This record gives sequence, structure tokens and C-alpha cells, in this order.
Amino acid sequence: MAARPLSLEERLAARGVSRRQFLKFCAAMSATLALPATFTPRIAKALNTAERLPVVWLEFQDCAGNTESFLRAELPGVADIVLEQISLEYHETIMAPSGHRAEHSLDAVVERYPGQYIAIVEGAIPTANGGVYCTIGGRTALSIAQRVCSNALATIAVGACAWDGGLPAASPNPTGAVGVRQAVPGLKNLINLPGCPMNVINLTAIIVHYLTFKQLPATNEQGLPFFAYGQLIHNNCERRGHFDSGRFVERWGDEGHRLGWCLYKMGCKGPQTYSNCPVVGWNGTSYWPIGAGHGCVGCMSPRFWDTMSPFYERLPKVEGFGIEVTADTLGAIAVGAVAAAGIIHGVASAIRAHRHPIAAHDGDEVLVEAAERVNQVVEQIAGPVRQAEAPASETENAIAPEKSGDVDKDRPSAS
Ligand code: SF4
Repeated sequence: MAARPLSLEERLAARGVSRRQFLKFCAAMSATLALPATFTPRIAKALNTAERLPVVWLEFQDCAGNTESFLRAELPGVADIVLEQISLEYHETIMAPSGHRAEHSLDAVVERYPGQYIAIVEGAIPTANGGVYCTIGGRTALSIAQRVCSNALATIAVGACAWDGGLPAASPNPTGAVGVRQAVPGLKNLINLPGCPMNVINLTAIIVHYLTFKQLPATNEQGLPFFAYGQLIHNNCERRGHFDSGRFVERWGDEGHRLGWCLYKMGCKGPQTYSNCPVVGWNGTSYWPIGAGHGCVGCMSPRFWDTMSPFYERLPKVEGFGIEVTADTLGAIAVGAVAAAGIIHGVASAIRAHRHPIAAHDGDEVLVEAAERVNQVVEQIAGPVRQAEAPASETENAIAPEKSGDVDKDRPSAS
């Protein structure tokens, strides 16, 4: 009699991954996907019973940073858990075959599993001069992407390069590099995971979501999943209290830097960048670039090599995103539902905090303008609420600290 196939949980147990670790992973996936904790048992059941999903991983103009991120995913055992549930049929960097035998295995997946495999794309796709700047086995990256992605169940573009060309597409873009959505226009079921590299927990969560619900997570019109790109970094940053209080790092290694103050004046792009970095951390830890003392470079923003540099200087304004946006511009902003959701969240947060208007930092043009505009909007909306709730004396004192003279005397000047 044929032996009963082992469940995922049983296979993991045989490899030293406990049920507790497995359920912890399922709970982490539930939280990452912004699902209620009650979905944890459903995710666990689905992972236990799901059939393995064929996956091909294409690499084009890239540094293999997303592959590195994928291979170094760690909560203990997480990579094992995901790899147990996907069948990685083709990945140039880590597969054993090479040369024409490797390319044959890619063709075999496309022919054997039409419309049933996941295509993960890493790297930009050159289009200039017929795409000759990246060829594999005599075929251009452009033709490979068009064939493989068009026949896939879904395509996940990992990293900034696969999203919009990334570094290879930075000005002057000599190879005509583009992302998957430009190389394969009209591609259905395309999910973009920008970042340099992407955060592997988001890739893992997408696979888990599909295995659990048999559908991909919701995205905006640019293919960015809401759960990963629906929040402004600045709103969840652990240094936000220092920003609001005007405590800024002025030089690398100064006292403010050692004390973990805000990195805005060192060029941090957190106020213009949408990502769940501060919430989920990186590589299975709570660490992330800002937590380690380096400002955000905006690597999950469009064309970030051109639009977010110089990385160590404050930007005057980045159109469409960030702290300069107020409620009176919401209707005119065409940056997609993810950005709009984040902006609405930001304004709502300010309204909820209507007893503490945002401080206008003297000498900083961007901050002064942003603070004044946000305060005007918040006052219009929240003023009547505050008046109804607060005693008259409190209402009279509800002005920005700078204007009331109630300023922390020890904090540095913002200029
Ligand atoms: S400017 Fe950067 S370091 Fe400062 S609070 Fe915003 S995201 Fe955090």
C-alpha cells in the first residue's frame, strides 16, 4: 500500500522546524498581509494542503540583489517553509544545470505548465537596438520576458529594475532599459515589488496569499500591492517623534545621530516614500535602514535613481508624494490609490491629533510650508470638533508651539 504523503508540517518537523515556529510564521504572514489574526489557522491549513506551485525566476540586467534577499530570508525556517511550497523550476543563479540544458528546462516549464506557473522577474529589460544588450542562450531578455510572462499564471517583478528599469534605466539610459510592464504591455496578473532590493517578506506574503486564497493580493493600477506600499514610511518611522519636535541629525556621527534623532536634514526620503519597511523590518528582524542610522533613499519610489538623488540632500519637493500634500490637493493628485490611501491616512492622523498642531520649523522652507498648509486643513476640519470637546482655556492655547513660545530650548535650529 502506498504511503500517505507527508503534510508540510510533518516535513518541516522532520527538518527541525517546530509547529510553534510554523504557526509563528503563519501569524507573521497574516500580519504582513494586513489580515486579522483569525486568518492564521486558515493560512496554516492552506500551506499544509496546497499543491506545489511551479515557479521560474528570470534574471536580466541586475545585480542579483533580490536573489540574495530571497536566499537570506530568515525568520528561522521561513525560507524552508516557502521553498517547500514552491517548485523552483528555473533560476540561473542557484540551479544546477547550465548552458543549453538550463534553457531547455525553462522551455519545458512554459510548455508543461501553460498558465499555471509563477514568473518572477529580477532586473531591467533593455530594448534599444533590438534588445541586444542582454541575451541569454542567443535570445534577448525582451523576447524571453514576453514569452515566459505572457504564458504565466502571474508575474511578480521584484526589485526596482524589474519595476521601471531601476539603475540601468537611470539617465541617460544607454540600453533603453525598462521594467516588465513596459516590456510586456498589457500583461495581466502583474504584481510589482519595487525596492533595491525588494523586501523578501513581501514576496513570501504574496505566495502565501495565493496559496491560501487562490488569488493575488489587491494592488493599485500600477500593480503595487496595498499591503506593502499603502503606508508612508514617515508615518510609521520610529524617529517621527524627533521630526515633530524639531530634533534633527546635523552631521553624521554628531550627538543627534548617536541619540537616534530624525535624518530628514541628512537627506532622508521617508516623507516621500511608500513602503511597509518600518513595520515588517528586513531579513526576519526588526532592523531597517533608518533604524540603523541611515536615511531612506526612496528606493521604492518611481525612477528613484533620478528622482530621489542626491541621496544625502533634502529634496525641495517631490511632486505627488509626501508631506507637502494636503487635503485641498487630494482630488487633483493622480498618483494612484496607494498614494491616495497613504495621504488620506496622513491627514486623518493629523486630524486625530488635532490637539497638537504640527510644528513649523523656522528656516526650513519645505517644513514651514508643509506645516502651515497641513495645520490650515486640520484646523478647518478639526477646529469645530476641538471647540466642542475642550474647555475654552484649552482652545485658546491650541496653537503651534513656536507661535506660543513653548519651544524646547535645547533643540537645534532647523536651518
Ligand atoms: S524624515 Fe526620515 S528619519 Fe525623519 S521621521 Fe521621517 S522617515 Fe523618519
